[in-house]
Amino acid sequence: MSLIVQKFGGSSVADAEGIHRVAKRIVDTHKAGNNVVVVVSAMGDTTDELIDLAASVTDQPTAREMDILLTAGERISMALLAMAVTDLGVPAHAFTGRQAGLHTDAAYGAASIVGVVPERIARTIQDGEIAIIAGFQGINRENDVTTLGRGGSDTTAVAFAAALRADVCEIYSDVDGVFTADPRVAPAARQIPALTYEETLEMAAHGTKILHLRAVEYARRYDVPLHVRSSFSTKEGTWIVNESARSRWDGNNEAPVISGISHDTSQAKITITGVPDKPGAAARIFQTVADAGSSIDMIVQNVPVNMPGSATISFTLPIADVKRTITALDINKAELGYDKLIQDDGVGILSLIGTGMRSHPGVTAKFFAALAEAGINIDMISTSEIRISAVLDADDVAEAVRVVHSAFDLDAEEEAIVYGGTGR
Ligand code: ASP
Ligand code: MG
Repeated sequence: MSLIVQKFGGSSVADAEGIHRVAKRIVDTHKAGNNVVVVVSAMGDTTDELIDLAASVTDQPTAREMDILLTAGERISMALLAMAVTDLGVPAHAFTGRQAGLHTDAAYGAASIVGVVPERIARTIQDGEIAIIAGFQGINRENDVTTLGRGGSDTTAVAFAAALRADVCEIYSDVDGVFTADPRVAPAARQIPALTYEETLEMAAHGTKILHLRAVEYARRYDVPLHVRSSFSTKEGTWIVNESARSRWDGNNEAPVISGISHDTSQAKITITGVPDKPGAAARIFQTVADAGSSIDMIVQNVPVNMPGSATISFTLPIADVKRTITALDINKAELGYDKLIQDDGVGILSLIGTGMRSHPGVTAKFFAALAEAGINIDMISTSEIRISAVLDADDVAEAVRVVHSAFDLDAEEEAIVYGGTGR
């Protein structure tokens, strides 16, 4: 008998009809001879509405009370879902984070899991019943309610799958799986049958909306197979597994050189000129950036040949972080000793991701050739073992995705049905 953890996002339980559809899915899985543990998110946009509600009461909601407020969303969906499942003839019980045994640190709004004690859930399964757990919430040592941060229900599901040693953690949303590129940009994109954890982490970190990053990290750490699929159909979705499990999908072939293409237009670039070309200068700059709370992605530094002693440093960061970063650099200008700051919001980052890249040296050349042929200029480049990223003009990104997708033979024969899902 298998143990399956099923996580349903807000879009799957947006209304009574959705709750019935999901309940049937759960009961069908149970009747097929599996033990089922469910993790559910708040209905539809409930969490956003609760945040708006708090904002309408005060400009400065307290973090502790904010978490109490937000966890109410999942209390509603878990209770209703348990009733709907029980109605279909299989007893189901709803559990808050506390009741389910999810322990976290004290960081309200962004708590980390410190332990999962799923006794109550294990007993429920043993009794042949279905456990429905509220996503994204836990308790800290003070017995106060905490949340794991937006989108955290994915992490709840993976944490219980790991603690209960489930055979699979199914993540349901309103999209069919992960695609080779965003189908809204590249209509020839195909659904990917399987990805490794590493590829998924790289894709998620570079603009592909798949899962909560922390959920993928957790799954990799405990080797929990994930199956990302739609609650609106019974089609196979995309599996996210370790490298040797993934080879099952590749048959006797080598791993694909490129598994997918991500793009991200929510980044900006800051260039700092006239930085003293001395040890410690870059360290001071990036300490200032870090102290401002900004997370940077790519960095390029060079010393123009005609200006020895003075370096130029460029880096990319989320547009949302630009303002406070510039302010912090400005305040410390004298100490940092640079000349000028140049801000560029019109950049986009294109990333090619694939484990097969490790053993295929020609990838970069092919990538650059495809962009060159389309007349697209590359601004900055960075690579990891399984990723190549290029900073481009934001206006070129969509075309770049399409030409690179074709160049690496990822195009489907038929156009994908462009889905309008949110992936939640
Ligand atoms: N309901 C929470 C949110 O909207 C958690 C989740 O959906 O995973 O962020
Ligand atoms: Mg939600």
